[in-house]
Amino acid sequence: RAKGDVSRSICFYEPSMDDFVRTRRKLAAELREALEKGQLDLHYQVQTSVLTGEIRGYEALVRWRHPVRGLVPPSDFIPIAEESGLILPIGEWVLRTACATAATWSPPYKIAVNLSPIQFGTAGLPDLIRRTLRETGLDAERLELELTESTIFVDRERSLHMLREIKRLGVSIALDDFGTGYSSLDILRSFPFDKIKLDRSFMREVEDSPTARAIIRAILALGSSLKIPVLAEGIETDAQLALLRAEGCDEAQGYLLGRPAPLDSIVSGGQITLMPGDPLAQSA
Ligand code: C2E
Ligand code: MG
Ligand code: MG
Ligand code: MG
Repeated sequence: RAKGDVSRSICFYEPSMDDFVRTRRKLAAELREALEKGQLDLHYQVQTSVLTGEIRGYEALVRWRHPVRGLVPPSDFIPIAEESGLILPIGEWVLRTACATAATWSPPYKIAVNLSPIQFGTAGLPDLIRRTLRETGLDAERLELELTESTIFVDRERSLHMLREIKRLGVSIALDDFGTGYSSLDILRSFPFDKIKLDRSFMREVEDSPTARAIIRAILALGSSLKIPVLAEGIETDAQLALLRAEGCDEAQGYLLGRPAPLDSIVSGGQITLMPGDPLAQSA
C-alpha cells in the first residue's frame, strides 16, 4: 500500500513541480531583465528615537516595479534572486543606490541595508563595501548592515571573521528579526552586534498579552546590560509606542512612524533635503 501511495504521489507531483520550476525560471529571467532595465527601486522607511521622536535613519527596502504585476514585494522575489544567484548583482545595486542616495541627505541620517546570507557568504564583501563607500562618498559610520540569525548560522567561524572585517571598515551591524530564530541568545553572546532589531511579531500581541510584554521587557533589559541598543519593528499603534517608551526602548520603526516610501515622497514630506547641486536633487 505504501508503495502504491508513493507512486501515486509522484504522478501527482511531477507536473506541478515542473510548473513550479518553469515559473521560477521565468521569474528569474524577468528579474534579470528588471535589473538591467532599471525596474528595481528602493523604498525608505524611517527609524526614530522612541524618547524624542527624532529621526535616526532610514532602512532601504527593495521593490520590483513589474510592468504587468505592479509593485512586487521582496518576499516574492528575493528567494528567486537567491536561488538564481541574481542576489549578488541585485544586492550590489541596492548597496550602491542606498549609499549614493544617503550621501546626498541633509541632515546626514544613517542608512540601513539588508544583506542576504548569500552576499554575506561572499569573500569579496568587505572590498565591495569599502569600494562602494569610497565611490559614493558616504561615511562608513552612516552605513548599517542588517543581518538575520540564519545568515550567521551558515558558518559561524567565517561569519565571525566576516563581521569583524566589516566592522573594521567603520560600518555598523544590526541583528534583524531578533527573537524569531533558534538560538538568539547564543548569537548575542558570540557576535559583536551594534543594534538588536526586535521582530515585529512581538509587537502584534503586546497590547493584550502580558507574556509578550514580559518578553519584550526582558529583551530590553538584556540589550541594556549588553549595551546594545534595541529597535522595535512593526510599531503600528500609539499604545505600542507608549509601551516602548515606558520600557525604555531606544528606537522604533513601523507604519505608525512612517511606511516605506519612495525617495521623492520622503523628500517632499520634508523629512530630508538633498544637498543643493546634487544630480539627485533634480530627479527627486
Ligand atoms: P525586514 O528587513 O525585517 O524589513 C521590515 C519589513 O517589515 C518590511 O517589509 C517593511 O515594509 C515591513 N514593515 C515595516 N513596518 C511595518 C509595520 O508597522 N507593520 C507591518 N505589518 N510591516 C511593517 P518588506 O519591505 O516587504 O521587506 C520584507 C523583507 O524582505 C525584509 O524584512 C528583508 O528581510 C527583505 N528585504 C527587503 N529589502 C531587501 C534587500 O534590499 N536585500 C535583501 N537581501 N533583503 C531585503
Ligand atoms: Mg531589515
Ligand atoms: Mg526585520
Ligand atoms: Mg524580516
